[in-house]
Amino acid sequence: MTAPRYRWQPTTAEIARRFGIAEASVIRFDHNTSPFSTDWASSIVAPMARSLNEYPEATYAGIRQSASKYLDVPEDSVVPSAGIDEIIGLVARAFLTKGARATAATPTYPLYEIASLQQGAEFIAVSYEPGFEFPAEGLGEAAQTSEVTWLCVPNNPTGDRIADDVVASIIEQARGIVVVDAAYAEFSGDTWAPWIDRYDNLIVAHTLSKAFGLAGLRVGFSISSPRLADRLDSVRPPGNISSMSAELAAVALAEPQRMQRRVDRLVKERSAMAEVLTRLGVSAIPSKTNFLLCEIGPAAGPIAEQLLTEGLVVRRFPDGHPLSDFLRFTVRAPHENERLITALRNCLP
Ligand code: PMP
Repeated sequence: MTAPRYRWQPTTAEIARRFGIAEASVIRFDHNTSPFSTDWASSIVAPMARSLNEYPEATYAGIRQSASKYLDVPEDSVVPSAGIDEIIGLVARAFLTKGARATAATPTYPLYEIASLQQGAEFIAVSYEPGFEFPAEGLGEAAQTSEVTWLCVPNNPTGDRIADDVVASIIEQARGIVVVDAAYAEFSGDTWAPWIDRYDNLIVAHTLSKAFGLAGLRVGFSISSPRLADRLDSVRPPGNISSMSAELAAVALAEPQRMQRRVDRLVKERSAMAEVLTRLGVSAIPSKTNFLLCEIGPAAGPIAEQLLTEGLVVRRFPDGHPLSDFLRFTVRAPHENERLITALRNCLP
């Protein structure tokens, strides 16, 4: 059996080459990243580029301090990481071994399953019910026998946000650790800090890749009880974040106003885009994130291919996937979204 692995969409350079277009005209509507400039970072990075001969300050005190202030949690509850992806890996390494069980409601972020299987654990996928109803009962049952329960709140790729009482019920039923992946929390306005006081089996994962608009940095962190934080820290590779990334992340977290202004703009743009899509006859699932999942029908694949020829990269799902008739669009800047809408208008049946 081949080992399960994460597969990326084609790169921007590959797409540009394939269709003979400039890299600059390729727009990523597939990665749920931010359209905003990161020019503000240059003056911070430039002086650091002169001292790369030394290792980073390996306790990452800067990230711990600013994350602790940003979320109002104690510093010893924070574990800095190379994105949420690394938190997922650390959780799998710390809590899953051969014969253990992990579970999640699917469709969701595929790395939960991949990381669980890579540890030799069994993965129980509990399918969403028709109409995108969250399988609260089924997941609760699976959580009762699982060492790790992965919960994506709000969920990627559906964009929905399960109610607090559902989250609480799953955590209370779970036999093991529950990971709340809060990658999109800033778009839904969630505050998880009080939850980690209430539940000592809860790990909440945050990232700078989405609302903070810094996917290229590869920085995230978890918050949890200090006991769980210490457990994760014990399997964290030394120096897992580069000096420049760590410095920029600490600055970004210490100045959340910039992020908040940008989130407010994207949330407005999300409603505007959903409205225009509805007028085109495309319905989007109500979203609490920076993306819209839209039902297109059997033409979803060919339409995604057509968009790709114009450099518009959208997220599609393979044949046989429960979302094969759907496309997912990241909400970007108005002029970029307009390009997508115009192209869609021309290729929708
Ligand atoms: N979790 C979810 C739900 C995501 O959608 C993504 C990225 N698309 C990630 C984690 C990965 O985040 P990071 O860049 O922090 O590794």
